[in-house]
Amino acid sequence: MKEEQFLRRVAGYSFAVMLLTICLTFALRYKEEYNIVMQERDATAQEELLYVEATPTILPEVTVYPVEQMTMDRHNTEEEVWEVWQMISPENMDVLMEQVSDRCVIIEKPVGTGVTWEVKENLPCYQISFTLRGAKENLHAASVFRMWDNLMYFGLPEAEELLKNFSVLSYEEENGVTSEVIMTFDKCYVPEVAEQEEYYIIHLKKYSEVYDKIVVLDAGHGGKDPGAGAENYRVKESDIALKLLLELKSLLEENTDINVFCTRTEDVYATLQERADLALGLEADLFISWHCNAAESKSRAGTEIIYNALQGTEDTFNSKAFAKLCLENLTTALGTKNRGLSDRQDLHIVRRATMPVVLVETAYLSNAKDLELLKDEEKLKAAAHAVYEAVLTAYERMEEN
Ligand SMILES: [Zn+2]
Repeated sequence: MKEEQFLRRVAGYSFAVMLLTICLTFALRYKEEYNIVMQERDATAQEELLYVEATPTILPEVTVYPVEQMTMDRHNTEEEVWEVWQMISPENMDVLMEQVSDRCVIIEKPVGTGVTWEVKENLPCYQISFTLRGAKENLHAASVFRMWDNLMYFGLPEAEELLKNFSVLSYEEENGVTSEVIMTFDKCYVPEVAEQEEYYIIHLKKYSEVYDKIVVLDAGHGGKDPGAGAENYRVKESDIALKLLLELKSLLEENTDINVFCTRTEDVYATLQERADLALGLEADLFISWHCNAAESKSRAGTEIIYNALQGTEDTFNSKAFAKLCLENLTTALGTKNRGLSDRQDLHIVRRATMPVVLVETAYLSNAKDLELLKDEEKLKAAAHAVYEAVLTAYERMEEN
């Protein structure tokens, strides 16, 4: 009897273990599938977001949409490149050779008389769009060639070239076919279009080749993100930062030959990535971001500058040297407490900057005395002027090096 009971119990346990194993297997498989679905969904969501962000002003209002998409999913062999190169302009080869630069995009002209072109830049996205109107036929993706490092590329962008991504959209409009070539590069370029008999050549110049001095200004927050606030958000960090930016922008533009680019000049939102991308893509000499501080403790006050301790070297003019200049000038001009310099690798735009970068925490919105200062237009002008002087000194020091 006891033996039978024991056996029954063993059978019972075995059955339970078996059931548990089956359930676990199913649960694990389901989880795996779920993860894959979630990853895919995330990837799609990101792509959609990027697409929308990247082409806010480029997409035209059209109804007909026969879309010409890239299909050449392979790399070019040397013979193929040579074949295309030979194919490209049998009569006009010499002229073309004279006109192509080592950094350009060549687009075959579509058939049609009176075809017009337009080129547009979308700076923080590193995009250039080239639009042709009034052609008789669609522009093919295979008609987009690139020159880089003495090599010609066609088809899908390859890892080593400057073009990272491109698409061609063609659609019917009243006066013919419109084709848009939307190209994404590794950084910002100034496009210079030369029109030839058979080709358009878009020469790509680095901003540093076109402009001698480049400074990128950023006003923290903006749009849906007001940053810190005071007096029930009647006073907003985003507004003060913008005032400081605009003041510094006009000081630099009116009194120097420095080219100023801004992450925003209105009350709009920009992501941290876009802000950093602009400074990096333009290869700016200096990057200045305006902010205001806030703290729980109402007694905390003063000016602080955040910098990137990993930027530059000891013997060059680096982020820390620039931060020191700004801090000295600001505390002197405003009479604020000197809260010192702070290296913050956790802040996206500071960490990513490869040029001398400062993030100016002008004063505390949460401190009564500092707040009065931040509400005073004359004091804001003085603050902008203090950093303006720091920029001038920075260029002197950089030229010495
Ligand atoms: Zn801020």
